[in-house]
Amino acid sequence: MEDCLFCKIIAGEIPGNKVYEDDMVYAFYDIDPKAPEHILIIPKKHIKSILEVGEGDFCYIEAMIKAAQKLAAEKGFAQDGFRLVFNTGANGGQTVHHLHLHLLGGREFGWPPG
Ligand code: C5P
Repeated sequence: MEDCLFCKIIAGEIPGNKVYEDDMVYAFYDIDPKAPEHILIIPKKHIKSILEVGEGDFCYIEAMIKAAQKLAAEKGFAQDGFRLVFNTGANGGQTVHHLHLHLLGGREFGWPPG
């Protein structure tokens, strides 16, 4: 999609600190980290949010979860625990309208979230 920040990061038009890429997903360090490790995992297809994941798109969700498993293990925080978040819509705190899975690790997280 033309004016999408994350599509531009995938295309290399805007620099992103890439940590992983395969046919389906792209992962990069969040520019404003909320934890010692904060990675965004995004589908290569432009999907606006979790609400717009269609029947044919669940393969992207599968690929995003697999990437999260792999990255949590590689970065060394899988065993201690971590958090996965899909912020959705205004009340959910979504600011970028290209689906993204936050992978946060390296510290303990509180509950409920703020
Ligand atoms: O879930 P939400 O839409 O709020 O998350 C968007 C995330 O994208 C933020 O954590 C923000 O720091 C990150 N971001 C980024 N690089 C940009 C713009 C935003 O990592 N150029």
